[in-house]
Amino acid sequence: MTFDSLGLHPLILKAVTSAGYTTPTSVQAEAIPAAFTGADLMVSAATGSGKTAAFMLPALQRLTENTTVTGCIGPRILILCPTRELAQQVGKSAITYGRAFKRLSVVTVVGGMPYPAQIKLLRQSVDILVATPGRLLDYIGRGRIDFSRCEMLVLDEADRMLDMGFKEDIDQIVASLPADRQTVMFSATFGGEVGRLAQGMLQDPVRIALASQTDRHTDITQHLHWADDSSHKLRLLDHLLRGEDVQQAIVFVATKRDADWLSDTLNEKGFAAAALHGDMPQGKRNRTLTSLRRDHIKILVATDVAARGIDVPNISHVINFGMPMKPEDYVHRIGRTGRAGRAGIATTLAMASERFKVRAIERFTTQRIPAQVIAGLEPRVNPEQRERRGSEGSRPARTGERRFGDRPRTDRNDSGSGRSRFGADRPAFGADRPAFGAERPSTERRERPAGTGERSFSDRPRPAGQGFAHRRDDRAPTGDRPARPRPPTEGGRRNFSRAHRDE
Ligand code: AMP
Repeated sequence: MTFDSLGLHPLILKAVTSAGYTTPTSVQAEAIPAAFTGADLMVSAATGSGKTAAFMLPALQRLTENTTVTGCIGPRILILCPTRELAQQVGKSAITYGRAFKRLSVVTVVGGMPYPAQIKLLRQSVDILVATPGRLLDYIGRGRIDFSRCEMLVLDEADRMLDMGFKEDIDQIVASLPADRQTVMFSATFGGEVGRLAQGMLQDPVRIALASQTDRHTDITQHLHWADDSSHKLRLLDHLLRGEDVQQAIVFVATKRDADWLSDTLNEKGFAAAALHGDMPQGKRNRTLTSLRRDHIKILVATDVAARGIDVPNISHVINFGMPMKPEDYVHRIGRTGRAGRAGIATTLAMASERFKVRAIERFTTQRIPAQVIAGLEPRVNPEQRERRGSEGSRPARTGERRFGDRPRTDRNDSGSGRSRFGADRPAFGADRPAFGAERPSTERRERPAGTGERSFSDRPRPAGQGFAHRRDDRAPTGDRPARPRPPTEGGRRNFSRAHRDE
């Protein structure tokens, strides 16, 4: 199949050709013709599969025809994204795929950016509006956006938006849109809450299930290295990053502090590294991503929230220094490499105490992550041997558990419960456990999604006359005190102050 055969407008074809695309990806081949029928769509496609063009090209196709609604300058296309970075990435794609249009107004509104500039942009005629739900709802509440001519709503990564607590915001936004719009929803899954959301806002949707998040990332080779402790992880990381095949790498950590600490440490070791996390002002986050795209930064040390939506083709390696909070996050992390048909390597550094997380990821992806060792950097403890021994019942449970220097649970910061310490001795290791997040204490110290959940008290429109003098988005980030250099910890930390959570 070619892009020609999809019936795209010549201006769009021109942009697609100059983007260097020759054939549509599977999701594009299926979703574009379906979207042209005007039907609502529910699409599940793997990360990095070209899904942005799958909704952006039909959106642009609509813009090649004049709207019938007069007297309104509001957006004709509305695209909702879970994070700022993804929204900005999608906004850029709109400009790329619409570059042959004479006049195309693409506006991106996200939290963390100054209001006056965004309000100015919204005063002009808007063709495509890309937004995160919190900030958009804010503008709707202030009466800044007229959706009378909105023809199409796209929900990108709908599952993530729900995970991040945007359900109510989305409901309110959708209530302000014309009922006869087309709605296109992209999500990794369509069960549970996403299914209910879809039911409420899609009419007789066409379902396109190409690949789920659990499908194999065929372009990504996955490895696992067992580490004894954080300093062992650091030595492994140093070794891996010096590999000849490393072009650019993203190193994922669990917390914002770890991101700052590790990027400083890597810089001291001579790497061109930078941190990316939600406590950084949006301008700095943008500059860091630009430097990464321009190859001025070789190694990005990032938290999950900040790294969503990063699409840099040169990322040859993803390394999980800190374990992801949920197995789904693992899939998103490794999807930052192996983009658009390129090969990528994803390596996870895990301590014995984190083995239940590794196994949960493997159950989720239905793939074993093969463990490797590096000569001279072998772990003292090999959890897999212990697992094997445990399942063979070759030694009594508990006795000898610490034989290889495995410290007792109380030494560790891992937020998994003490149960996991003896998990290897149980049949069907970890199978009886809830997902990662469910085990975490409420004082979880990991990074929170941008502009969601905890900040909901401030990132919503207020009833008239009750506004705060300082909205949360306007304030300096609360977590901006300099991080003290300290070794990272591997899991959630208790007693985590609010100051270190994301906005
Ligand atoms: P996405 O899943 O939309 O984030 O896209 C992943 C990557 O695939 C991006 O770098 C796109 O530029 C690229 N891409 C999208 N469609 C195509 C295509 N038809 N041919 C080649 N690359 C593509």
